[in-house]
Amino acid sequence: MIDKILIANRGEIALRILRACRELDIKTVAVHSEADRDLKHVRLADESVCIGPNSSAESYLNVPALISAAEITDTVAIHPGYGFLSENAEFAERVEECGFIFIGPRPDTIRTMGDKVAAIAAMKKTGVPCVPGSDGPLGTDDATNSRLAREIGYPIIIKAAGGGGGRGMRVVHSEAALHNAISLTKAEAGAAFKNDMVYMEKFLENPRHIEIQVLSDTHGSAIHLAERDCSMQRRHQKVIEEAPAPGITEEVRKRIGERCARACEDIGYRGAGTFEFLYQDGEFYFIEMNTRVQVEHPVTELITGVDIVREQILIAAGERLSYKQSDIRINGHAMECRLNAEDPNNFMPSPGTINNYHAPGGPGIRVDTHIYNGYRVPPYYDSMIGKLIAHGTTRDIAIARMRNALSEVVIDGIKTNVPLHQELFRDAAFQAGGTNIHYLEKKLEEKK
Ligand code: ADP
Repeated sequence: MIDKILIANRGEIALRILRACRELDIKTVAVHSEADRDLKHVRLADESVCIGPNSSAESYLNVPALISAAEITDTVAIHPGYGFLSENAEFAERVEECGFIFIGPRPDTIRTMGDKVAAIAAMKKTGVPCVPGSDGPLGTDDATNSRLAREIGYPIIIKAAGGGGGRGMRVVHSEAALHNAISLTKAEAGAAFKNDMVYMEKFLENPRHIEIQVLSDTHGSAIHLAERDCSMQRRHQKVIEEAPAPGITEEVRKRIGERCARACEDIGYRGAGTFEFLYQDGEFYFIEMNTRVQVEHPVTELITGVDIVREQILIAAGERLSYKQSDIRINGHAMECRLNAEDPNNFMPSPGTINNYHAPGGPGIRVDTHIYNGYRVPPYYDSMIGKLIAHGTTRDIAIARMRNALSEVVIDGIKTNVPLHQELFRDAAFQAGGTNIHYLEKKLEEKK
């Protein structure tokens, strides 16, 4: 059994993992940069180790420092959280070579899913629906590429196999721009991701972003925990997430959910994961798989009652899933607002000291955050300072509760995006549900 876990992350997710460990009676090791000595989970952990200076590269991304911290504390397993090294196959490999348990998929699975061309090929093989496209990397022959694009039909999108974070993509509307777009994306991808492989997909013009949460154990069983709608995005970054997705019927959910669960069984997936899809005109198109816990996991936890982080740990310990598919029932609706330390008007980061913090509360409200009165938000990391999550028996009740929570929360001393969320929760189209991935950008554009 795992009796000590090193949490290789910071902020709210580190605290979330610590809480799951404590419930399971597992000892915790917090690792932190010099700037993060006062993080809440560092204070609550059984042990803590400073792994380096402020920059992520020298601390949270510093593999030798993390491995040393695990060795000196007699750690058994390492939880990578999200971001940082969570989807780094070399890190997972290193962790296992050094004799620790990596709380996540096998390194080769992470590697396959990190290469979008390989991921799409693996998904096609197991019958997961993908976007019509080049079925592999593009070569250098212009005539072949032109023919491919014509067959798929414009507009198309050129994407880097190694891309991530919304970078390494270019939309092409006509043949005249095709070859230049391919060489530009190739050059950029080579520089940014050290991998210049690019591929081609049909560009979907008004899709929603719908994703399926899965859990898969090491005994060959996988289940899905229904879907989330994360279409409210700015610059490909999610702003609001909800579960279930408006308008998805039980029959559709079952069909796509079970496809994903079977795919996990086929590839021997281990742990929690998410299949991300674009959804348009009633069809799902796989775009990528995230091989880690996601920021938005709480909305799924609230509607299913499943503790996803707990399941991750139990799966890593070699246990069977605590649930069968037939145990999973959807109870009500949940929404999540990402709270960022940023100016709500121009989105510039707003680090600094929080001199007054009041958490919202009441029925159905969950607050996942590491902030407290006097906490100083450092300028070195992601600007997300927490998540406000609301649950209700219906979507309208969840929205009403979120509105209350947004009006109650007080975070003084820094700027936050709470005013933007307040505005979005009064927006008629968002309230109606089912807006596509361009809705928020367009709305912000019109505001300007
Ligand atoms: P990343 O790994 O960089 O997040 P994804 O493949 O997940 O890249 O795509 C990010 C976003 O880019 C999607 O959420 C969607 O907004 C847009 N996108 C990607 N592929 C397509 C496509 N074929 N058609 C339309 N939009 C797309």
